[in-house]
Amino acid sequence: MNEQTANQTSQVTTPTQQPPTFSEIYQSSITQPQEFWAQQAKRIYWHKEPEQILDDSNLPFAKWFVGGETNLCYNCVDRYLPERAEQDAFIWLSSEVNQELIATFPAVVDAFNDLGNNVEFYTDYTKRRLTYNDLYKEVNYFADVLQRNGIRHGDRVVIYMPMILEATYAMLACARIGAIHSVVFGGFAAHNLAIRMDDAEAKMIITVDAGLRGGKVINYKSLVNQGIEQATVKPEHVLVVDRGILPFKPQPLDVDYATERSISRNANAIVEPVWIESNEPSYLLYTSGTTGTPKGVQRDTGGHAVALATSMDYIYDGQAGETFWAISDIGWAVGHSYMVYAPLLAGMTSVVYEGLPHRPNPGIWWRIVEANKVNILFTAPTGVRMLKKQDETWMTRYDVSSVKSFFLAGEPLDESTAQWLKQHLGVPILDHYWQTESGWPILSNTPKFNHKPHKQGSPGYPMYGYDAHVINEETGEPCAAGEKGLLAIRAPLPPGCLTTVWRNDERFISSYYSLFDGKQYSTSDYAVVDEDGYFHILGRTDDVINVAGHRLGTQEIEEAISTHPEMAECAVVGIHDELKGELPIAFCVLRDQALVATTENRFRLEQQIIGAVVKSLGGIARPAAVYFPPALPKTRSGKILRRAIRALAEGRPTGDMSTLDNPAAIDAVKQAMKDY
Ligand code: AMP
Repeated sequence: MNEQTANQTSQVTTPTQQPPTFSEIYQSSITQPQEFWAQQAKRIYWHKEPEQILDDSNLPFAKWFVGGETNLCYNCVDRYLPERAEQDAFIWLSSEVNQELIATFPAVVDAFNDLGNNVEFYTDYTKRRLTYNDLYKEVNYFADVLQRNGIRHGDRVVIYMPMILEATYAMLACARIGAIHSVVFGGFAAHNLAIRMDDAEAKMIITVDAGLRGGKVINYKSLVNQGIEQATVKPEHVLVVDRGILPFKPQPLDVDYATERSISRNANAIVEPVWIESNEPSYLLYTSGTTGTPKGVQRDTGGHAVALATSMDYIYDGQAGETFWAISDIGWAVGHSYMVYAPLLAGMTSVVYEGLPHRPNPGIWWRIVEANKVNILFTAPTGVRMLKKQDETWMTRYDVSSVKSFFLAGEPLDESTAQWLKQHLGVPILDHYWQTESGWPILSNTPKFNHKPHKQGSPGYPMYGYDAHVINEETGEPCAAGEKGLLAIRAPLPPGCLTTVWRNDERFISSYYSLFDGKQYSTSDYAVVDEDGYFHILGRTDDVINVAGHRLGTQEIEEAISTHPEMAECAVVGIHDELKGELPIAFCVLRDQALVATTENRFRLEQQIIGAVVKSLGGIARPAAVYFPPALPKTRSGKILRRAIRALAEGRPTGDMSTLDNPAAIDAVKQAMKDY
């Protein structure tokens, strides 16, 4: 297919050529997946057409669009130059870069000049607009910089950056030359960085001098230096975007991006896109699992592009020329899919926001919506719950009538938050459900099709391509309506979902496909389907917790705590929190219980333990409380009963504890919480 047809919306059509209903779309995607996805594949430009739509001969390893060659960056940027060169591709807003910050760090203004223009300074925020044409140039410069610094097709590049436009150029430039990016969330600490660098064997790290959060300066470069020290596999270069916040004194591996950019710019560098076979990895994104080592979710190239382009139309109803704002972070799957790739694949404008929801005031989101006529919003419920605590009048000061839909995901959307938002904004509030692994929604509502009304408490129903059902955990039999079970998806997963765990096919199978016949993907979420076919999510089946929409493995936190020399053993569980959904709390058994005999000592140890977690994993994993029981409840086989501990922490009954090896530990845990 050529570029003209690639731009056209592709739909499954019924024999009468009526636009299809959602039910027809869903059915055709399940019963005729090859035909369905062959149609959707027309949404993107293929340098070489796929030879085979689906190779499912080696499930659960599915290959989509086999033999097809494409390039994500070309599809996001170059393809839109003829029609949309002067349309904004990105609008960047930072409430962190305000006049106060500029007064403290005047070099910030020079840095903007060095990194390209289009900057507007306001008292309380800074704005940068970037057209598709500007983006084309910047991505080419960036790709040229990468190539001149030795990065080639297949190399891994770690991106550890805050929410600035250079982070998006870095991702797109990697995609342009076929390098595999691995973005690490900026809130993670040096240890997290090191394990990701090692696992991916990263050849380059791209970072900044500093990030900003609530006016606080975060020394990214120093965290990168520490990460490199801890890593076994050292990168060849560290490419630094100097924002002019902290003094940047280049060290031997460091390369200054502004200097490199000016070389590429003076040469008007154009880097031809590398055509990538559809199944080659486009990126890695590490996510928490039940072990202490995060899994490198591997995404393909062609399937990823087709899936995102289709979802932008069928699920979000986002059309070329419209504006999409995913209020998230590029370090998460939402940031990858719906801040960078999907809006550009659809020819839309994407808003990138560096800042908090209530700074400089709780009206900032709506002011941005009004000023930029945002059409579709997407965030996690936590951000909204933060706003709920503020003066409500901020909710109605701005005109948000441009918004067609406001999607929420990442954690359960509680009824009061949903109602509050709906009442104050007057726009449709739609819950939907997906995972880092899927990369796009598994369950959703579909405003474009008017299929079923949104039902409070449910993220919707299965999206096309997902043969999703709730099954009995033990027998694998489908659950009846109203019966709780495991949310599973029959293989193959549709295009765009993880294809494996980076260099670890065994872990891919053991983490996701160890159930029954080995062909059911386990989401690790409990769910129930109601009489009307709506799915409801009932929480994780494993030891993964969800803090403010971010996934954390309790074992990662336990490993960080275990580095404390006085620790005998510990258990971390997540407890319900009104604002953040869940919070980790730690139960620590010391080698010598006498160490916490006094309140003063207990406090000191608590601070040391919290400090160890923050240093290793970042503030996001900070335990909300640390208790010191003399023992933890265990089964006879020595397994710590985290479910019982969690029940105790939440004041719920523990259930039958007769099989416990040490029943006295239950009272010990209760007592430790009382002593706190
Ligand atoms: P992550 O991979 O970090 O996006 O986390 C995915 C997990 O977040 C899922 O497995 C669910 O446990 C949870 N989750 C995501 N969206 C929802 C939702 N709409 N309702 C309830 N839980 C959700």
